[in-house]
Amino acid sequence: MADKPKKKVEDKPPEKVENKAKAPEKEERKGSADPLKIFYHWCKACNICIAFCPQKVFEPDRDGKPIIARPYDCTQCAFCWLHCPDLAIVSNEK
Ligand code: SF4
Ligand code: SF4
Repeated sequence: MADKPKKKVEDKPPEKVENKAKAPEKEERKGSADPLKIFYHWCKACNICIAFCPQKVFEPDRDGKPIIARPYDCTQCAFCWLHCPDLAIVSNEK
């Protein structure tokens, strides 16, 4: 008895699916390069923002006031401006 012709298995590679979702680039910031504005004349160097920023964006200057040392790490979580007792921090992006 003759063998039935075997089913041809397609061995084409799967079609490439282009990932059109582009990761946001950190350089794509609106407006100012800094994510935040600090009003230094209102800041009393209480250290709250420096100590509790989850991304460690700030470093203290010699007076203990926050310098935005790592602006691209800021996630705009809002902790700093919501907890600053002197309302000395505002977002440049929100
Ligand atoms: S918004 Fe959040 S991540 Fe950005 S500096 Fe303030 S506390 Fe840090
Ligand atoms: S929380 Fe406000 S007052 Fe305290 S160090 Fe930061 S900016 Fe200054």
